[in-house]
Amino acid sequence: LLAEYRARTPGSASAFRRAAAVLPGGETRFVTYYPPYPVILAEGHGSRLTDVDGTEYLDLVNNYTSLIHGNAYPPATAAAAAVLASGAVFPSPHELQVELAELLAARLPSVQRVRFTNSGTEASVLAARLAQRATGRGRLLLFDGAYHGSAPPLLPDGPEVVTVPYNDVDAAREALTEDVAAVFAEPFLGAGGVIPGRPDFLRSVADLARARGALFVLDEVQSLRNAVGGEQTRLGLRPDLTVMGKVIGGGMPIGAIGGSEELLRLTAASTDRGLAHSGTFNGHLTAAAAGAVTLRHLDAPAIGRLDRAARRLADTITTAAAGAGIPATVTRAGSILNVHFTPTAPVDAEQARRAAATPLLSALHLALLLDGVYTTPRGMINLSTALDTNDLDRAALAYAHAFQRLAEAEV
Ligand code: PMP
Repeated sequence: LLAEYRARTPGSASAFRRAAAVLPGGETRFVTYYPPYPVILAEGHGSRLTDVDGTEYLDLVNNYTSLIHGNAYPPATAAAAAVLASGAVFPSPHELQVELAELLAARLPSVQRVRFTNSGTEASVLAARLAQRATGRGRLLLFDGAYHGSAPPLLPDGPEVVTVPYNDVDAAREALTEDVAAVFAEPFLGAGGVIPGRPDFLRSVADLARARGALFVLDEVQSLRNAVGGEQTRLGLRPDLTVMGKVIGGGMPIGAIGGSEELLRLTAASTDRGLAHSGTFNGHLTAAAAGAVTLRHLDAPAIGRLDRAARRLADTITTAAAGAGIPATVTRAGSILNVHFTPTAPVDAEQARRAAATPLLSALHLALLLDGVYTTPRGMINLSTALDTNDLDRAALAYAHAFQRLAEAEV
């Protein structure tokens, strides 16, 4: 597979060499690297990506779940281009920020007020600071395998952080001491392997947090795309704070936190208790404009279609693996899927890590690339509304072919 990959991607090889001379490791974002060097992409339109060698791929990554309507979605690019032409960032609040905030507040019942950042990472950090300010406590309870961004205090090895296994209420109960400011949870472990939270797990954790005087923070950076009001509406949760990002910017950089008026008031400059929150590009108007139109087009019927297509694809992939005699399972949260090389679905990050400790994972990734299907090295894929039935059939065939190659090859 590797020899074939090198032979097919000479342009990527030389573009990567050039990149490595100025970007450490040739990249500026961890997930974009895989050995021997990543395919270097040049363009994306709808469900298609094109690399620097001119090879076309079916896009099942969608910039890690952020491009819900595919690449360069014309209504989003038109909205962003229109604001670019009239000034896309001002040292004043702007109507477009208000519009996006109104849209989020209308969709998420737990959200009355919204505060914008430039990334999900920044939004998580703001949520943590706000929880610490509101409770006067320092600790943050996280779940193993959770990803809330790449900054402290929300790193698993941080001094303020306690980590317990996902889907384990007893462990959370035990760790929820008097000094915990907030419990951060994803509705499903995203980067940790697309592992759904059991509904009773998330509800119990939310109740426990409140009973102990801590805030319950739901990170919907990935999951917001799975229901009009976020997964919280599906799961019957009313978080104190919601962390948002990805799709709400329509492909442009964004992050946000949402919650009650009472809590979010602490971030306002006009209050004397204000938690200093600034950012030259906060609420950038390209993201506000592109995000608003993207969300308007992400309605219940569109989400229903994505869900059904994702369920079908998950079943097809599982069947294809079984047909090739390879023990694999597919976990799914809405239209986000993850292939695991284990016969039973992992329920926490440790189980997912064990299933991922196989050369089959990168072999599958390379085999799919060679078949013109762009997926992630860790086995996660997700759908966009730009994928049509033919695209999905093609993806299913590519998986079947890839598993066959894996079964025949010595990997
Ligand atoms: N939270 C979750 C659940 C995420 O999936 C991500 C990004 N993958 C983040 C936070 C961080 O967002 P960003 O990459 O925009 O900083």
